[in-house]
Amino acid sequence: MLKWSLRGLGFAVLVLIAVIAVRTGQYRPAPVAENEPFAFGADLDKAVRDLSAAVTFRTVSTDMTRPDFRAFLGWMETTWPQVFATMERVVLDPATPLYIWQGRDDTLPPILLAAHYDVVPVAPVALDQWAYPPYAGVVADGFVWGRGTLDNKGALVAIMTAAEQLIGEGFTPQRTIYLSFGGDEETGGTGAQAVADFLTARSQRLGWALDEGSFVLDRIIPGLDVPVASINIAEKGYVTMTLVATGAGGHSSMPPRETAVGKLATAVAKLQATPVPGGLTGVSEEFFDALGRYFSIEKRAIFANRWLFEPLLEGILAGAPSTDAMLRTTTAPTMLSGSPKENVLAQRATATINFRIHPRDSIDDIVAHVRDTIDDDSIEIEMNRDFASPASPVSDSSGPGYLAIEASIRATFGPIASVPGLTIAATDARHYATAADAAYRINPFRITADDLTRFHGVNERLSVENLEKGITFYGSLMSGL
Ligand SMILES: [Zn+2]
Repeated sequence: MLKWSLRGLGFAVLVLIAVIAVRTGQYRPAPVAENEPFAFGADLDKAVRDLSAAVTFRTVSTDMTRPDFRAFLGWMETTWPQVFATMERVVLDPATPLYIWQGRDDTLPPILLAAHYDVVPVAPVALDQWAYPPYAGVVADGFVWGRGTLDNKGALVAIMTAAEQLIGEGFTPQRTIYLSFGGDEETGGTGAQAVADFLTARSQRLGWALDEGSFVLDRIIPGLDVPVASINIAEKGYVTMTLVATGAGGHSSMPPRETAVGKLATAVAKLQATPVPGGLTGVSEEFFDALGRYFSIEKRAIFANRWLFEPLLEGILAGAPSTDAMLRTTTAPTMLSGSPKENVLAQRATATINFRIHPRDSIDDIVAHVRDTIDDDSIEIEMNRDFASPASPVSDSSGPGYLAIEASIRATFGPIASVPGLTIAATDARHYATAADAAYRINPFRITADDLTRFHGVNERLSVENLEKGITFYGSLMSGL
């Protein structure tokens, strides 16, 4: 009998191995369409000079009164004169120009291409770490250096250069194209909101919109040796809550067994120990299912056999902050306060927790999660809903906008991998999404891990090669619209 059951067990193991192997073998990247490379005669040297000049305007949106904003808009007029002569331009508050390129067929839904030209401040303490001054627009070593080159003036220059070139070639789009350049993306994007309201008031429902939010990621994802274009189809929401615990206060020489600080600390510890539930569903599943196919065979075996390895896989992904953020709403305690003096008991202690909301959760879901988790009615939850935004809708990864963007990525970068992704930070795209049937997020630049610290950091730069790729991408995209 024992012999028989051992044999049975051996057989079952063999079947299991065979199933895993077959499923792994079938789990391969979707065949990549060869897109004809897009040949474009745009003047790259001029584009480099233009990006260099764009950097010299200190469009730092923490101070919208700076004259640089108006000056930048005037500079755009003279830098791309055919765009200015051909398209209608309206400037929405604050300092957000919207260019309207009238299409030949009004029955087709218009589309919108966006970038922003405001920048974050340069930290004075880090000034001496810059290889070149941050607002000089130095061109050296194959790069344009300076604040805003990557984020996001490079995209603006690429869009405008491509449009100028297409107009010069006599091209008129079939459908109307809007070009929108946010003046205050870094401080909330009321400009982009105004653009969405402008379009909605004119019943201009966009077929789709394209803004920043991701890149062609070159060896940034651990274990992936091929560049992959992450075309993001959704964006996380944002809410900050402040937990408030109160106590009697008094001298610290005779403390009660329960203090405001102690209650608060317990609540924060519970929230840390109880992440918002998440997992491989919805956009997270789409992303990892598309991405997993490009991994080495051992990793592919795990992704291909989720029926068996799901808990293991989710554990691995939850183990690293970057992948955990793709799976769930994240919980980040960021600020704490107690009493103002070491020997005084706090009458009021507060903890500020920042959540980035996954598209599967609503703001109210997060409030309920916090309530249930801390399980202490004496702690109040304060929240400013005006500063909160829900996650964006999830756009279709097989819709016409997605396919057009994907085709232009491949016409620019060759037959590279592309996956539908999730933007974990906040961008203007969430505002444009309110006026569009779909919103996508990618900048057509290839970035490496080395570039990541340059965003909002020191030595921000964009390679001349990337600028060229960007012009090609937008040229390819617009010429098909
Ligand atoms: Zn940006």
